[in-house]
Amino acid sequence: MMKQTAEMITTCPCGCTSVHILTTPRARFYCHCTICQAVSRQAYADDCLQLASNVHISDESKIEFRSYKSPPAFSRGICKHCQSPVIAFFSPMPFIRLAFIPSVNYPPAIKLPKSKGHMFYRHRVAEIDDALPKYEGYWSSQLATAAAITRSLFCHRA
Ligand SMILES: [Zn+2]
Ligand SMILES: [Zn+2]
Repeated sequence: MMKQTAEMITTCPCGCTSVHILTTPRARFYCHCTICQAVSRQAYADDCLQLASNVHISDESKIEFRSYKSPPAFSRGICKHCQSPVIAFFSPMPFIRLAFIPSVNYPPAIKLPKSKGHMFYRHRVAEIDDALPKYEGYWSSQLATAAAITRSLFCHRA
């Protein structure tokens, strides 16, 4: 059977950091939580999801990792030079480690999946007029994320 591979490299805006990715993104989310707002310096973060085992950071010394209390257990990597988000790691359950990579960091030629919706919409700083689902609070956002992750893991497992 043919195994589909799509190797690509994502970079932060200044180009200092790069992440080597072995597969196309599994899912995509918009997150309106206050930390994503602060880290992305946007009204909300637009991230694509990968299994952490499929990503490889080229030079970790260029990235500063920070942990925030809420949402819990996220480790967020920021470029030391341009202060832009590079990658965030999160373990939703034992033995599963996920990587969130800003959609803007992907090469323009890569066709990214359609977003699964707006998470933590309660914290929005701008109303979003689109047809995507809006998840207001912590638990609805967590459940929607978990459902999408589970589906993506079982549907495309290589
Ligand atoms: Zn967030
Ligand atoms: Zn940078």
